[in-house]
Amino acid sequence: MKILLKDILFEDIEREWDEDVEEANALFNIEPHNTLKLIVPFHVTMKLHRIGDNVDIVGKYEGKLEFVCDRCSEKSYTHLEERFHYLLQPKKPGEEAIEEGDEELEVGYYEGDEIDLSELAIEHLMLSIPMRMLCKEDCKGICPYCGGNKNERECDCEKKAGKSNPFSILIN
Ligand SMILES: [Zn+2]
Ligand SMILES: [Zn+2]
Repeated sequence: MKILLKDILFEDIEREWDEDVEEANALFNIEPHNTLKLIVPFHVTMKLHRIGDNVDIVGKYEGKLEFVCDRCSEKSYTHLEERFHYLLQPKKPGEEAIEEGDEELEVGYYEGDEIDLSELAIEHLMLSIPMRMLCKEDCKGICPYCGGNKNERECDCEKKAGKSNPFSILIN
């Protein structure tokens, strides 16, 4: 979804669309996010308001993300719902981009006479994904001895391994 700056010259506009997840998923195919996949539909809403040359954008997106748990390697899903607020300024040639803004308002730049709203939403999504994704906070992971998923079945491999440890005789 792209808009032309002249479209918001005299009035605020609102756009609502389902993003092309194929394109976003191609971007995800890089470490450490290469197991992430957006599920259809990924719904985005943005309200645009022009203040001089700047564009104020309030938006939100909603969707579902498929991923592989970093601890147990099981396929999992998480619901996404994020709100964001951007202030885009025209990027002038040769001008250094200043990173500023806070949690509430992020400052960015646009170039030319067009703003790529899809890119803005996907970029925000990528930055909000944690480095480590778990199926649940207390995921027990995989047993290093039998390879079993400890969330599904408790095994006593670790206990047994502890007994065969020659040093354990010193403790017993
Ligand atoms: Zn897990
Ligand atoms: Zn085990």
